Amino acid sequence: MSDTPIIIVGAGAAGIGAALECAARGVPYMVLEAANRVGGRAYTAAAGLPSAWDHGCHWLHCADANPLVEWADKLGATYRSQEVTNPFQVWDSGSFADAEELAAYEGAITRAFEAVETSGRDVPIPDVLPDAGRWAPSVNLIMTLMAGDDAKGVSASAYADYVDTDHNWPVLSGYGALITAMAEGLNIRTGVTVKAIHQRQGGATVTTDQGDLEAAGVIVTASTNVLARGMIHFDPGPAADLVFQLDRVPCGIYEKVAFAMDALPEEMAQTRFLSVQQSGLDMATNFQIVHGDAPMMLCHMAGSYAHALVMAGPDAMTDYARGALIDAFGTRIEDRIIGAATTNWTNDPLVLGSYSHALPGSAQFRRDMITRDTGNVAFAGEAFSPNWQATAHGAYASGRDVAARMVAQVS
Ligand SMILES: Cc1cc2nc3c(=O)[nH]c(=O)nc-3n(C[C@H](O)[C@H](O)[C@H](O)COP(=O)(O)OP(=O)(O)OC[C@H]3O[C@@H](n4cnc5c(N)ncnc54)[C@H](O)[C@@H]3O)c2cc1C
Repeated sequence: MSDTPIIIVGAGAAGIGAALECAARGVPYMVLEAANRVGGRAYTAAAGLPSAWDHGCHWLHCADANPLVEWADKLGATYRSQEVTNPFQVWDSGSFADAEELAAYEGAITRAFEAVETSGRDVPIPDVLPDAGRWAPSVNLIMTLMAGDDAKGVSASAYADYVDTDHNWPVLSGYGALITAMAEGLNIRTGVTVKAIHQRQGGATVTTDQGDLEAAGVIVTASTNVLARGMIHFDPGPAADLVFQLDRVPCGIYEKVAFAMDALPEEMAQTRFLSVQQSGLDMATNFQIVHGDAPMMLCHMAGSYAHALVMAGPDAMTDYARGALIDAFGTRIEDRIIGAATTNWTNDPLVLGSYSHALPGSAQFRRDMITRDTGNVAFAGEAFSPNWQATAHGAYASGRDVAARMVAQVS
């Protein structure tokens, strides 16, 4: 392999963004990706089911400001930009909520997010939440999904750094497929694992499982869990100092169970999201309802209960999700399920989790790490996005920003 001015480690949304920026500025670069595919946590695949589904990102969050919408239009990806009226349904211990109950449920969710967004406190999220009463299991679930981990381990003020425009559009043709298509034509080597980065004055040596490469600058986009667990060795220096502290911004647990259906239950005809509150459980179970020719019910699970399930294996995950469906719809639902598949981001050695959050007490650390000067070895990715953290478009924008700075530094 030849030497090159800028080496980018990882071909997820951030690495692809960085590569596009280098290409736009006419600076030679090379992306090294350990997996045999590009996309990272953006991944669309059928996994044995009749149609493809997004294992990782699916929603164009902040869609009215999201730079990937332009890419979707350019590349012919399809998405739903029309907001749906009354997309939620809640099943609570025996019955589906009526209109009045749904309004109360939505009010509880809205109050919870307002409390987090306005608290300004670098404390665990539950410390700032109002009592959600009957809807507490659903609030607990939504907070856990949005934070990507147990809310008690997430800083409220760091979470509130996210600037939400409340426009979230699902990519019907697959967000993973879109990000993969964006990588077309870029200089990416897949199947190359970076083992170590030796930072020195004026450059860096990148050690891979296929030999060493010299670069003037390196942009590292692996997840904070991959970095914090020492999967890439860094020689002592400013980059190593930052990596050493990345356990303050870990990736949590967020997994999916996908059920392919021969038909959706009639009760779901107008519904996009179902929250199932089972008696005795302080966490509801969430389903995304996919309509169309190949209907699906996708169970989203996060935090410590999802961790226990994913460690117990795909059958445990599927049984849990199936149990919630049976509670809500009766055993008749089983006849409609024609296939099931699960994700396993937690144990994927190239990701090791969902997406990042700052621990309570680490909000300012997170802000500072994004602007910290680590010289000719810099970091990009969802965790390094100031106001779009934990998202694919945040990762992409971070990659572009860091590449623009790196190009200026090495030119
Ligand atoms: C279940 C789930 C649902 C989500 N839903 C949404 C959503 O709806 N909308 C949204 O915007 N975001 C969502 N996200 C978050 C979004 O997917 C991520 O924030 C984003 O894709 C991260 O991109 P990245 O480039 O920072 O990291 P990654 O995608 O993790 O890319 C890093 C790359 O580095 C590679 N790598 C790691 N180690 C090495 C090594 N040693 N050598 C070479 N390469 C290496 C990895 O293989 C990977 O390809 C979701 C995530 C999950 C897990």
